[in-house]
Order: sequence, then structure tokens, then C-alpha cells
Amino acid sequence: MKHIFPTYKRFPFEIVKGNGVTLIDNNGKKYLDLTSGIGVCNLGYNTAPIKDAVKTQLDKVWHTSNLYDSTLQEKVASLLVKDEDKDVYFCNSGTEANEAALKLARKATGKSAILAFDHSFHGRSYGSLSMTGNDKIKEGFGPFVPDVKFAKYNDPDALAQITSDLAAVILEIIQGEGGVVNGDPAWLEAVGAKCKQEKVLLIIDEVQTGMGRTGKLFAYQHLNLDPDIITAAKGLANGIPVGAMIGKTELASSFGPGSHGTTFGGNPLAMASASAVLTILNDDFLEAVQQKSLFFWHFLEKEIQPLELVEGISGKGLMVGIHLKSDIEVSKIIAGLHKQGILTLSSRDNTLRLLPPLIITGSELLHAVHIIKDTLTNAIVSQ
Ligand SMILES: *Cc1c(COP(=O)(O)O)cnc(C)c1O
Repeated sequence: MKHIFPTYKRFPFEIVKGNGVTLIDNNGKKYLDLTSGIGVCNLGYNTAPIKDAVKTQLDKVWHTSNLYDSTLQEKVASLLVKDEDKDVYFCNSGTEANEAALKLARKATGKSAILAFDHSFHGRSYGSLSMTGNDKIKEGFGPFVPDVKFAKYNDPDALAQITSDLAAVILEIIQGEGGVVNGDPAWLEAVGAKCKQEKVLLIIDEVQTGMGRTGKLFAYQHLNLDPDIITAAKGLANGIPVGAMIGKTELASSFGPGSHGTTFGGNPLAMASASAVLTILNDDFLEAVQQKSLFFWHFLEKEIQPLELVEGISGKGLMVGIHLKSDIEVSKIIAGLHKQGILTLSSRDNTLRLLPPLIITGSELLHAVHIIKDTLTNAIVSQ
């Protein structure tokens, strides 16, 4: 990688092909994928209905700009909002969706202050990075967008910081990059209630937790929450770049013609893919994700939780964080799992993060549990 900015530390092999939940590298080695390309290819690789939808659109038109009507955008929007009074703004990534949310919240409320949380991740553009609670990735890039405050995630005292001078509160239901930290359901609902009481917009970043990852289309749907704005991206088009900001229709007048825009957002190829993705993510599919998650969690608790190196397991559905003790670096475990033909991720605080494609089978999940158990067990022996 001679002419590429070294913003990523890369593993020394290349994925050249994929099918279902299997990936193949440049040496012909096969892997069971537990990453989904970081929560993106939730419906696996080379998935026929999605590939066909993109190919069909490829033969029609690739790009038209947002100056004309789009049946495809309207279709994807209606699949996202269902029967709710909400509208969608399409863009190309999670960071752009959060950027749009920040701009909309300020314009619609006439207020500027935003409350975000420590260990949150909302992206790397200035707006979204300014709302990200991770000093390490902000280092050297300041000054940031003014008027963004931070509170402690899951802290009851944070409720006192939700005051009527805020434009919005932004949070994740489970903090993905922040170490797979589950939001406490009662706390999240209390935050939602306080936002309503103080007339502060609630923005829920579902970029990682959305698209069926936790067994619902959006993770907030497990709870009694009524977000004003939801942001989505990663899994929405199964790997074709896309982002979406979904907001209550009452906010739409603040995003009139010329107020915000993007050349590529809502691109026909991305919309064709997103339409196929959302058609697959119906209630039966999501129910099946919940069922296999129950099975997976049963074995995670039985086989992985008791291991000497494991401090705890967090997450929900097919979003899992295995928190490792500091005796071993998670990167060593990930490398060990590569040897055993399994791809995994890390997250903050020495966390082994699993985001398997939602189409994975129970027996593949069980296989993964056994390999992870062996690798964690042998890691102690080999120390
Ligand atoms: C990945 C992620 C983002 C940023 O999305 P990009 O597409 O990389 O810009 C924002 N929020 C959350 C919760 C994420 O996991």
C-alpha cells in the first residue's frame, strides 16, 4: 500500500471474493466472516436478489442527480418510514447522515447546542467528529464545531444536562466503536422523556445498530422511544455507499430547496440495492434474526463467558462484544482467529467485536463459538 495514506493499519492479506458468509483471500484461504465489512454486508456477499437489483439498474441508468423525480428514492423512503409521518434525506455515509441531522436540528429549533456522550462515535467529518466522544481520534484536528457538550453515557446525572437551551441530544442505542456498550433501557427511555419535556430533539444514530443488526429494523424499536431524527447507513445498501437521515415530517420545512444537498446522495444504484435490502428485512426475517441470536447468546454465555480471559459479554442480537482481560491484546486474538479461518473485529477497551452477516446459520454461529473458545483458551497456554 505504497501510495495510500496510512490511515488504516491493514492486515497483510486481501479479500478477493465472497459468497454468503464466506470470504476468500488472495492466497485462496477461506474465512467465515463475523464482520460484515464492519456492519455493512449484513445480508452477506454475492447475495442474488441484491446483486440482480443493482445489475438491472446498472443497465438502465447509474446517476441522474437530485434534480428530477425518483421513484426509487420514494420506494426506499417508504420502506424506511413505513406508515410513520417521517421524511428521508439520502446521502452517502453515516458521517453525512449525522452531519445532516446536526444541520437540521439547528435550523429547525433555532438553537445551536448539542449534547453528545462519551465514547460515542458519529463519524469523522467536522460536524460528526465534533459530536464524537473520543479524544484520541480528535487529536490534532481542532478547533471543532462549537456548542457541543458531552455527558456520561448511562449516567442518571446526565439527565440534568438535558435542558431547553439544547437543539438536540444525539446517542447510539448500543455504542459500537465505543466498546459495544449497551445503553441501559430505562436510562435511554428517561433521556427520551426528558428531551420531550424540554423540547429538545432526540437524534438516534442507528448507523451500526440499524438494518436488523439487533433483531429489529432499528435498535430503538426494542424500547419506548420516539426519536425526532434517526440516522442510518452501513447496512442500508449492503455495501453500495449510502446514508439516510430520517426525520419527522414537521421538520421538513427547515430543509427546503437549496438548504442542504449532495451530488451522489440517493444514487440509483444505491437505491436499487437499498430497496432489495429493505424488502428482505421483513418481519419474518427479523424474527429469524432474533431466534438465531437467542441460540448464539446461549452458547456465548455457556462457552465463552466462563473463560479465564473473558471479563464479560455485551451487545444485543448479532452485535456482540467479548471484553477481554488486559492479559492479552485483542489484536493477537484477531490474528489467531485469522489462522483458524474466522474474521472478527475489535472495539474500544480490548473488546473482540462480532458483527456476523444476519444470514449466518445457527451451525455456523456454533462453529464460531467453538473456534473462539479454542483460540481464547490456547492464548493463555501459549503465553
Ligand atoms: C460507522 C459509524 C458512523 C460513520 O459512518 P461512515 O459511513 O463511516 O461515515 C457513524 N455512527 C456510527 C454509530 C457508526 O458505527
